[in-house]
Amino acid sequence: MNGDVVTMDKLVSLCKRRGFAFLSSEIYGGLGSSYDYGHYGVLLKNNIKAQWWRAMLQERDDILALDSAIIQHPKTWEASGHVQSFTDPLIDCRTCKLRFRADKLEEAQCGRKPSKHPGETPECDLTAPRDFNLMFETTIGPVKEAGSAVYLRPETAQGIFLNFKHYLQFGRKKPPFGIAQIGKSFRNEITTGNFIFRTREFEQMEMEFFVPPADADHWFEHWLEQRPAWFEGLGIRPDHLRLRAHDQEELSHYSSATSDLEYLHPFGWTELEGIANRGDFDLKQHATYSGQKLEYVDSASGERYVPYVIEPALGVDRAMLAFLADAYDEDEIEGERRTVLRLHPLLAPVKVAVLPLVRKDGQPELAREVYLLLREVLQAEYDEGGAIGRRYRRQDEIGTPWAVTIDHQTLEDRTVTVRDRDSLAQVRAPIEELAREFERRLREPWRSPKLGG
Ligand code: ATP
Repeated sequence: MNGDVVTMDKLVSLCKRRGFAFLSSEIYGGLGSSYDYGHYGVLLKNNIKAQWWRAMLQERDDILALDSAIIQHPKTWEASGHVQSFTDPLIDCRTCKLRFRADKLEEAQCGRKPSKHPGETPECDLTAPRDFNLMFETTIGPVKEAGSAVYLRPETAQGIFLNFKHYLQFGRKKPPFGIAQIGKSFRNEITTGNFIFRTREFEQMEMEFFVPPADADHWFEHWLEQRPAWFEGLGIRPDHLRLRAHDQEELSHYSSATSDLEYLHPFGWTELEGIANRGDFDLKQHATYSGQKLEYVDSASGERYVPYVIEPALGVDRAMLAFLADAYDEDEIEGERRTVLRLHPLLAPVKVAVLPLVRKDGQPELAREVYLLLREVLQAEYDEGGAIGRRYRRQDEIGTPWAVTIDHQTLEDRTVTVRDRDSLAQVRAPIEELAREFERRLREPWRSPKLGG
């Protein structure tokens, strides 16, 4: 097995062929870096989000959930610093008519002659960097007039800060505690590309963890440990993950310390998730702009402080790309090439495929019965079309960990074969035990077969 066969071309083509993701508005020629998710893409994204919620809400008791509006009061973005500072340095090449981010020239080089230094080569004629605000602006109400301008949120985090007060009251929470949300964000990115890695519309999973200021370093370390562990628990190979601390110039306007969790994508090491110590910047800014007190007060001791905030912020789409890239594999079975997604079973869009060996002798009827039984407890798929080997390949390609085959023996003793996507082992099991067996397997720790050993 080779862990390094994946390329972006192969991934994009698999995603299109099998309905994970399509270029948006394709019949009109596509819309710059917008993607639509198809059936298996939706299932995979749902599984990623479910695992994130599980880690944040179910496996801990110090985080609460939120779902805030995409369009917030415009003052939000003045207070947060986004109106003034959420900019990227834009460079134009007068020769190539292409645009770049000055800080990402290595990623998206000028088409004619790659240059890391503006104006350095004779052919490239690069402008000096200009600041370009990444927020999408729109208007609220039918008439465009003064004061009607609003923004599509560029991050979900601000909705959390605006609601902080409520959580102290209804949640009766005392720091340390967190508020988590998953939702769409929008950024008018200058350079997009690499498929769903950087798009203008994307989903974020963000959690703001409010802590007493003196404990901020401790909690920053805590989340620096937790987040890579979450990815590794879901099968990402540890040698494809690394933490990289931002240096002083790279830090965002709100942050006193940030580390990027990077993944070794087919196009190199790049940010997967950001883990930041935002200090008390956001709560203090919103307190100033709103005139409201946003602080924790201990009514018994009289202690009061503005909590510091530790934030792990991850894109759902970017996580999906990393899970897909890490899972993609090719091998050979009996002289035939196969493409297989070695996804963690919890993430796999379909957990089990139910396949009658032949389309006669009562096998399809019994297979439908097994399918109906299994779909009560997990995402199952029934497929009777084509040779059995072809049907296995189709399931391998979308990462289905197990296939149940109904054959002539099933009609005699109600046992089926269960085939494993990775080991290819086939074992016989009674129909009546299947549901419990798959539930057991889903709870088992899982390790990527691409790691070998
Ligand atoms: P980058 O440097 O790649 O532009 P960022 O540092 O601006 O990212 P953050 O503001 O820290 O990103 O956002 C948190 C997370 O949201 C990122 O780690 C990434 O997973 C995701 N994300 C941010 N921008 C995009 C985008 N344009 N498309 C897809 N996901 C994104």
